[in-house]
Amino acid sequence: MKFRTRAIHVGNERDPLTGAVVRPIHLATTYVQPGAGEWGEFDYSRSGNPTRKALETTLASLESGCGALAYASGMAAIHGVTMLLSAGDHVLAGTDVYGGTYRLLHKVVNRAGIDVSLAPATDLDAFEAAIRPETRLVWIESPGNPLLSITDIAACAEIAHRHGALLGVDNTFATPVLTRPLELGADIVMHSATKYLGGHSDVLGGALVVRDKELYDRLYFLQNATGAVLAPLESFLCSRGIKTLELRVREQCRTAQRLAEWLDGDDRIARVLYPGLPDHPGHAIAARQMDGAFGAMLSFEVAGDFAAAKRVAESTKLFQLAVSLGAVESLIEQPASMSHASYDRDARLAHGIRDGLIRLSVGLEDFEDLQGDLDQALAWISQAGGRHLA
Ligand SMILES: *Cc1c(COP(=O)(O)O)cnc(C)c1O
Repeated sequence: MKFRTRAIHVGNERDPLTGAVVRPIHLATTYVQPGAGEWGEFDYSRSGNPTRKALETTLASLESGCGALAYASGMAAIHGVTMLLSAGDHVLAGTDVYGGTYRLLHKVVNRAGIDVSLAPATDLDAFEAAIRPETRLVWIESPGNPLLSITDIAACAEIAHRHGALLGVDNTFATPVLTRPLELGADIVMHSATKYLGGHSDVLGGALVVRDKELYDRLYFLQNATGAVLAPLESFLCSRGIKTLELRVREQCRTAQRLAEWLDGDDRIARVLYPGLPDHPGHAIAARQMDGAFGAMLSFEVAGDFAAAKRVAESTKLFQLAVSLGAVESLIEQPASMSHASYDRDARLAHGIRDGLIRLSVGLEDFEDLQGDLDQALAWISQAGGRHLA
């Protein structure tokens, strides 16, 4: 079966008891056992739940994995991976990992005697040079946030494996519609299901999908031992969102591509960062690694300063001023004052996140309505202050 068919049917087999075409939500926390010391498929909801299992079955199929685990949030899923590590181990992560990942690695994981360092995953030589004998986990994201940098996943898998480390890929931005990291050699794929998988800004969740049964068993043990499982209602909402995942992502990508091309030709814009534009530094890799589209996240810099970008971000009406991404509603944010405000300014600038940067999560609204909305928000930036003077 093709991707879109599996998204609807795998894990969603009709309810054998009633014939209902939508599986019931199993709220029960405990399950009657066949006998003392005898176990059925389910016994206690932290260890396993039919509604969560249905979601995990769908996810394993869509990401080409042997098994999946659904967590209470994306951060809980990443934390689950880091629990594979022990004191003395080292984690290497790409420089533009999600801010929450940066915080988890540098303020929580490091306290367990695990060393953490960052290197640019877009520069493979520099990235490999940052690997140490005790590196056990390499962690990357593509496209990266908020500059939409593209990392070569297959090349990073080779590097990690050459040094005896696991490769984990945060696939939240690309979704399995566009990129399936396990097929490219990664060991673990992670999602913030809060974003595209759920897709409607109404469920917080996370997931891991793995290639190998032994690794699945270790992660399952850790999840059951520590408890950050996804609840039944959230599991159901996520499964429901996934049924339209491909349709939503492809249409949102189409709109993002058109907006990127329009912004790229506009004098009020200093630069557009979108992997679907031929002059984006990661375009060639993206064309190979992303299936037919370049994602629905795009960033651009307005000519002018912090105040100019702030004013644009505050002036849209359809693009709502909010963090998060991936849902049917379009969102706008200014990384310098919102998603990346906790970085100190010099570090942020060194990282390429300038004050004039604006990030869009392109939703499912009509292209012309979104274009008109951005156009009116940009209207007050004088033509003279545009690209030529920037
Ligand atoms: C949102 C996000 C996370 C964290 O997920 P939560 O569900 O918010 O815990 C991790 N990685 C990326 C790329 C994200 O966008």
